[in-house]
Amino acid sequence: MDKELEGRIEIVEGDITKMEVDAIVNAANTSLLGGGGVDGAIHRAAGPELLAETRKIGGCPTGEARVTKAYQLPAKWVIHTVGPIWSGGNRDEDNLLASCYRNSFKAAVEIGAVTIAFPSISTGAYRFPLERATNIALSETQSFLHTNQSIKKVMFVCFGREVHNKYQEAFKEVFT
Ligand code: ADP
Repeated sequence: MDKELEGRIEIVEGDITKMEVDAIVNAANTSLLGGGGVDGAIHRAAGPELLAETRKIGGCPTGEARVTKAYQLPAKWVIHTVGPIWSGGNRDEDNLLASCYRNSFKAAVEIGAVTIAFPSISTGAYRFPLERATNIALSETQSFLHTNQSIKKVMFVCFGREVHNKYQEAFKEVFT
C-alpha cells in the first residue's frame, strides 16, 4: 500500500446524491442540461435551480469540467465533467477520460474542496469498458494526490455490486 495515500481514497457502494462531501462529480453530457443515469439523479435531487445554473454556463466540452452549487444536495458543489463516449478506443477516449479526472481535481482545488466523490464516469450510457475506466480513475487519482495535500478524501461511489467489485480489484492492483 502506498503509505502516503492510505486513508485518502475510499471505495463505497451507494448513491452519489446522498454523499455529504464538499463536491460531488457529475458524469454530465456536453449540453450540461441533464440526462439519464447519474446526471438525471443529481438533477432530480438538487432541484430545478441546478438546471437554471447549468443553462447559464452553456455547455462543456468533453474532458473538461464546470462547477455549480449543489442546491438541495447534501454536498456543497457539483463538478460537472463530460466523459468520452466509447467508440472502440482509437478516438482518444483514454486521454479524455483521464482529463475528466484531472480537470475535476483542478476544479476541486480551486473551490477549496477537501472531500470529493466521483461516480464511474463514462461507464454507463457512454459504454467505456469498466475495468479500463477504473484503472484510469485510480491511477489519475494516485498521481494527483501525490502532488496535492489539500484534498483529504476522494470517494468512489459505486452504483451496484459490479462496479464496486471492479473498483476494489483495481484498487488492489494500483496500490499494492
Ligand atoms: P455516462 O454517460 O458518463 O456513461 P452514466 O450516468 O450512464 O454516465 O453512468 C456512469 C456510472 O454512474 C454508471 O456506473 C452508473 O451505474 C452510475 N450511476 C448511476 N446513477 C448513480 C448514482 N445515483 N450514484 C452513483 N453512480 C450512479
